[in-house]
Amino acid sequence: MNPSTVSEIFTELRESKKVEEALAFIKTDHENTVAEQITITEIPAPPFKEQIRAEDLLKRLKDLQLEDVQMDAEGNVFGVRRGTGGGPTLFVSAHLDTVFPEGTDTAVKEEGGILYAPGVGDDTRGLAELLSLVRAFQEADIQHKGDIIFGGTVGEEGAGNLRGVKAFFDQQANVDGYISIDGPDWENIIYLGTGSYRFTVTYKGPGGHSFGNFGEPSATHALGRAIAAIAELRTKEEPRTTFTVGEVSGGTSVNAIAAEASMTVDLRSNDKGELQGLANHFLTIVQAACDAENQRWNSDKLTVEIDQFGDRPSASQSAVAAIVQASSEAIRSLGGQPELVGPSSTDANYPMSLGIPAVTSGTGGKAGGAHTLGEWYDPANGYVGVQKHLLLILGLIGVDGVSEALLEQR
Ligand SMILES: [Zn+2]
Repeated sequence: MNPSTVSEIFTELRESKKVEEALAFIKTDHENTVAEQITITEIPAPPFKEQIRAEDLLKRLKDLQLEDVQMDAEGNVFGVRRGTGGGPTLFVSAHLDTVFPEGTDTAVKEEGGILYAPGVGDDTRGLAELLSLVRAFQEADIQHKGDIIFGGTVGEEGAGNLRGVKAFFDQQANVDGYISIDGPDWENIIYLGTGSYRFTVTYKGPGGHSFGNFGEPSATHALGRAIAAIAELRTKEEPRTTFTVGEVSGGTSVNAIAAEASMTVDLRSNDKGELQGLANHFLTIVQAACDAENQRWNSDKLTVEIDQFGDRPSASQSAVAAIVQASSEAIRSLGGQPELVGPSSTDANYPMSLGIPAVTSGTGGKAGGAHTLGEWYDPANGYVGVQKHLLLILGLIGVDGVSEALLEQR
């Protein structure tokens, strides 16, 4: 995509009266958006228990009169705003889930204009921006070419493993591009996806008394052998590839041969092949440690179980892909300085891994302390994030009589 084409399209958009009306509406909708953000923050959405928040979003999207508003089997919620035809289909979403377990107090406290609550930024701000966007589209009634699917996904965080966005793209074959509204800075663009695999490895043996049964293989000793070998793995700095044994547990007492010992392991890479290669090494080590412990005691009683509980695809696209350039231009068009931030693990990973243009695009306002109980959000000028997303969407899907679509139909 020629950069001048991209910047021309944003110039054309900014010259459209209807687009300016929509941008102005978003500014007047700011307080409403922040109030909605507070209300939604106070509806807890623990991992795998997003349903109440999802039903709330379903109702809000219906009230805003999107078409085909629905909840899919996985728990995602979405509705469509139809274009005039002949343009690409874009999915725009924020994630419904937070990292906080059931029972976490999510009441929002305000101090000096700053909002404090677990989940107030990540990603409730994204949901609030999404709703403000839908209002702006309905209010200004811009005649855009492509369809926009607005929605909330489940399972973005941790063990959720991107289950929502995976289910969505596995079912919707006709989507040409994706924007995830997530992250604390409106000038940030994430266009590369870090892949990760997560495992629980459990060694199991006969156990026994440390003195009386000496000679039996030990689960903790096998675990130690595995960890020592994992610690010696060498991975590439570029593409960044990492590993860690995060947690270990096992054994029952100081004078017992451990019958069971386990660890959790996190492997990551910005490259699919590197991640797979690292995983293969890791699996070989885990099995070899079991074999070595058995051999040491001339036994076959020790076994190993490997459970993979995390699987996020690595994904990359060109830094000059149309969706990345459009994201940058939308930010510049509002006086910001776009920043392409390092690869990350977000909802955009999955469509990107399927070859669908996708970005994770930061929200307006300022935020910090994500994934901690001290999470905060400063709403000052937060509407700029919503305005950016409006421009970005229009740039990608085209506007009748104003601009061509930057996103290609697949
Ligand atoms: Zn998030």
